[in-house]
Amino acid sequence: MKILVPVKRVVDPNVKVRIRADGSGVDLTNLKMAMNPFDEIAVEEAIRMKERGLAREVVAVSIGEPRVLETLRTALAMGADRAIAVETEVAVQPLEVAKMLKAIVEREQPDLVIMGKQAVDDDSNQTGQMLAALLGWAQATFASRIEIVDGEAEVAREVDEGIEVIRVKLPAVITTDLRLNEPRYASLPNIMKAKRKPVDRLTPADLGVDPSPRLIYTRFEEPPRREAGIRVESVDELVEKLVEKGVIG
Ligand code: AMP
Repeated sequence: MKILVPVKRVVDPNVKVRIRADGSGVDLTNLKMAMNPFDEIAVEEAIRMKERGLAREVVAVSIGEPRVLETLRTALAMGADRAIAVETEVAVQPLEVAKMLKAIVEREQPDLVIMGKQAVDDDSNQTGQMLAALLGWAQATFASRIEIVDGEAEVAREVDEGIEVIRVKLPAVITTDLRLNEPRYASLPNIMKAKRKPVDRLTPADLGVDPSPRLIYTRFEEPPRREAGIRVESVDELVEKLVEKGVIG
C-alpha cells in the first residue's frame, strides 16, 4: 500500500498570535511555525502502518511558500520516504488545496490519503472532505483508530454521541483526530538522514490548478478580553452573585 500524507505549515499552536493593526489578518512576522498537529498524527499513523508491514511507501506533500520544505523535512525525519513540495506565495484555500492534492493523487496513485481533520490556523475542516468528493473516493473523518482489514479500512470515528466504527473501501481519504496516536519526535540521526531523502518541487501550474483565493476575509478581530474574576467566601455568596448576574434563576 502507498500512503500520501498532506501536511500544512502553520503557526506553532503554542505561540500567541497578534492581529495586524488594520484587522487584515494575523501578523506572521517572526512567528515560530510548525507542522499542523493533526498532520503530525497523520504522518505518525502512516509510518506505523509501514512499520507494521501494511504500507510500502509514505509520501508527504505540502503546499505553500518555499519554507514548506522545512515542514516536509520534519515529516521525512519522522519516517516518510519522500516528499513533494508545491511552491506558491499565494495563501491557498481548501478548495484549491484539494484540487492540487487530487492532481498529485492522480500522479502518485496512492491507496490511502491520511491527513489532518483540520488545520489549526484557519480551522476550515474542509480539505479532506473536498478531496474525497473530487476523487469520488470513500472518506472517513475524525479517525481515532484505523485498522486495515481485507482491503478495507475500519475506522473508529469520534462523533458527539461517542465512537462510531465504519468500514470504507480503499482507496480512501481518512482524516485524523487527536486521540489516534501520539506522534514521535524525530531523532537526531533521522533528522540527518532526512536531508538525503528525495523532495520533488512543483508549482500549482505543473498541476494545472489556479491557486487564487475565492474566499475573501473581510476583517479579523481579537476576542473580547476576559474580565477579572472575583473571590467569594462561601457557597451562599457564590449563589447570590450568580443570581445577581442572571446566570441562574
Ligand atoms: P483544513 O481543511 O484547511 O482545515 O485542512 C485540513 C487538512 O488538509 C490539514 O490537516 C492538512 O492535512 C491538509 N492541508 C490543508 N492545507 C494544506 C496545505 N497547504 N498543504 C498540505 N496540506 C494541507
